[in-house]
Amino acid sequence: MESVGIDVTLLSVGADLPYFTGYEARPSERLTVLVVPVGGDPILFVPLLEAPGTENVPFEVKTWSEVEDPVGLASSVVSSPGRVAVGDHMWSVFLTRFQRHWGHARWIPASDLTGKLRIRKEPGEIELLRRAAHGVDRIMGRMQVDVPFSGRVEREVARDLAELTIGEGHESAEFTIVASGPNGASPHHHPGDRVIEEGDLVVCDFGGRLNGYYSDSTRTFVVGEPSEEQREVHEVVLAANVAGRNAVTPGVTCEAIDQAARSVIDDAGFGDYFVHRTGHGIGLEVHEHPYIVGGNELPLDPGMTFSVEPGIYLPGQFGVRIEDIVVCTGDGVESLNDSDRALVSVS
Ligand code: ZN
Ligand code: ZN
Ligand code: ZN
Repeated sequence: MESVGIDVTLLSVGADLPYFTGYEARPSERLTVLVVPVGGDPILFVPLLEAPGTENVPFEVKTWSEVEDPVGLASSVVSSPGRVAVGDHMWSVFLTRFQRHWGHARWIPASDLTGKLRIRKEPGEIELLRRAAHGVDRIMGRMQVDVPFSGRVEREVARDLAELTIGEGHESAEFTIVASGPNGASPHHHPGDRVIEEGDLVVCDFGGRLNGYYSDSTRTFVVGEPSEEQREVHEVVLAANVAGRNAVTPGVTCEAIDQAARSVIDDAGFGDYFVHRTGHGIGLEVHEHPYIVGGNELPLDPGMTFSVEPGIYLPGQFGVRIEDIVVCTGDGVESLNDSDRALVSVS
């Protein structure tokens, strides 16, 4: 904060607060905010009824009652700051009130500061991501035996996957994409009432949180036997996934990783059907920096964790995506996900 001339940082809902304190603010009309004055001691302001649960916060905690004004209390910690960093996800209903108290301040998003810290994971963070990833891998490995597909609607399969995610030690299942047949051509398909049929490809993309850190993996399964075209498209996506992961090493740019995966799909003639970036950073948020996308010239550093998830989406027909979370190591790459990437047949 001192080196970039920030007088005070405000952190509320979002991942910055748990990153620094282990405590996550409840998204609520009642304000929780950590006030970090440059050169002073941070103070966490929480609603009185949220005080239980703040015992382990390593800073002073002040509660505010239902009849007090939390923005008035929190803004009185610092008088007329010049530059304020504010958490990216603070609600505008609070931000605008802080702005009235500190009328002359200039405001920047806190991620300009915190992003540089959070983008490189410490070994303890990588271990949590690894455990989360292995939990999802075990579920992928049980799909053939424990999860029936044919004749069930997508939502039922999605519910199974969410339950299995909790069963593997996650505290929550945060998202579950089950996209069968033509629905697979929509990358973020919301599982619905479609009955899964023999011969369908089914894109399964799910994850949750384990000690706050996310899992996120995708495998594409076939119900019964694949057609020649399904097999071919899956092979192209797998080759793109391998090329993307193999390109990961310190100093290589994010856009070069995207290009490594994308060129395989382009060369096979499916370039128009790979409609999203190759990947996203992952940690306390499921999507965070670094983004593996054209135009991002950021070079990879050891400790960066992100997804490699190329896909091909053929409208009206089917889709294929294969997603792994990887970590850039000192001299290359470790894939945190390692379940079978072949076109596994389910029943
Ligand atoms: Zn996605
Ligand atoms: Zn992802
Ligand atoms: Zn995913």
